[in-house]
Amino acid sequence: MEKNTLFYVILAILVTQYLAHQFLEYLNAKRFQSTLPPELADVFDENEYRKSQQYKRANYKFGLISDGFSLVLTVCFLVLGGFEWVDRLTRSITEDTIPMALLFFGIIMFGSALLGLPFSYYKTFVIEGEYGFNKTTKSTFLSDKIKGTLLTLVLGGGMLALFILFYISTGRNFWIYMWVAVGVFILFINLFYSRLIVPLFNKQTPLEEGSLKKSIEDYAKKVGFELQNIFVIDGSKRSTKANAYFSGFGKEKRITLFDTLINDLNEDEIVAVLAHEVGHYKRKHIIANLFASLFTTGVTLFILSLFINHPEISLAIGVSTPSFHAALVGFALLYSPISEITGLIMNYLSRRFEFQADNFAKRTFAASPLISSLKKLSKKSLSNLTPHPAYVFVHYSHPPLIERIRNLKA
Ligand SMILES: [Zn+2]
Repeated sequence: MEKNTLFYVILAILVTQYLAHQFLEYLNAKRFQSTLPPELADVFDENEYRKSQQYKRANYKFGLISDGFSLVLTVCFLVLGGFEWVDRLTRSITEDTIPMALLFFGIIMFGSALLGLPFSYYKTFVIEGEYGFNKTTKSTFLSDKIKGTLLTLVLGGGMLALFILFYISTGRNFWIYMWVAVGVFILFINLFYSRLIVPLFNKQTPLEEGSLKKSIEDYAKKVGFELQNIFVIDGSKRSTKANAYFSGFGKEKRITLFDTLINDLNEDEIVAVLAHEVGHYKRKHIIANLFASLFTTGVTLFILSLFINHPEISLAIGVSTPSFHAALVGFALLYSPISEITGLIMNYLSRRFEFQADNFAKRTFAASPLISSLKKLSKKSLSNLTPHPAYVFVHYSHPPLIERIRNLKA
């Protein structure tokens, strides 16, 4: 198999990323034993605290093994010429650019999904099961995997085919057309996520009439927030963990509450969580996130357009016949350090948005029910109350509980 310098650059990137992430995990794990700040003393009792530490340790070990496995597998695949082998196999079936690319990605993704299945199973049924979080039945697990794969096949395959079609028909400018297409797609998914995607996996029912709905509506009216869609989702079907989220905008905007959230929190706490979500909307975080992802997509596609025609990029993953699909994989691997940096910026932004949404809830509703709801949710999910700052900086899209409480009390 031919190898060029970029081939070794990719290997170096993969190994460095693994080591850097494991180092962060290690730093974080060293703090599992820390004594809790006084503000958090009432989150767990002694028993629960011990349980939360064991849960963190179990996840830490699991990550070490599953990430290690995936690194070894990827490196072996590269070094032993796996991409070249799949490329040849694909070419023996079809030489048409689009079906060839679909088949190439299809085989690789199917293979990696299959190898990831035991890990996903272990995580859901052994780790989450042991700590009492898991409510997923084997049949839900299986149907989730099948539906997820089909969805990726349809949406991912469709986008890939469109991508290549633009590349073939518009040459160098393909990235602009693709940018527009991705933009429309992101917008569409944002708008209709709850209407089209969620029903494939969950049942959503409008929040029933009653005092909770009345409190929510009273609050929404007070802050001038037009709210027609409040839905309850059957999150309890999969896990005991609770959540609430906001989706869509304009007439499609809706708030979705997990049934687990409604069971675990009292009315004031639910309204406080909702006030936080309304804060995201009012402070235009939804739109900001949308623009940020549009912007990064545009930059990525533009850079891709500069490199896609270089045979070196295909050769970088050991594929000797240059092609769009091989270059796409090579580019994705070479670009991953930049994606990581973009991820850091997005996480930083997201943590700031969380503070702003908390402040909105504090100003328009109250701080103390939000504090108690955050504590309850952290307790229920056995959250890490003492994460390492470096770990937070890289991985957390939400500030750690202690920072949110301090900000809410300020
Ligand atoms: Zn938030």
